[in-house]
Amino acid sequence: MPLTPEAKAKWELRKQWFIDRIGKKVYRNKTCTCATCERIYKEGLTITDKMHADYVFDCECIYNIEKNPLKYFDTIEERDAFEKELKKGTSA
Ligand SMILES: [Zn+2]
Repeated sequence: MPLTPEAKAKWELRKQWFIDRIGKKVYRNKTCTCATCERIYKEGLTITDKMHADYVFDCECIYNIEKNPLKYFDTIEERDAFEKELKKGTSA
């Protein structure tokens, strides 16, 4: 299915979000309880380069297609707020 111009714009914008954060730390909500994910959840993840930025962007896309919301944030506070909203959504 081809993307609508709006969806494509959104996609480009989100892709750029990750590229803008190369060399910076990002935080994500918990989707998995393995040791690696637990550590990233607590300590955040530093985006090392363009390839890594593309990779984490892909992860976010794939998870969301599979209906497991995954989102990266600049701060733990934003991440926590997102998880709170998520909990509200699933219990409703
Ligand atoms: Zn994991």
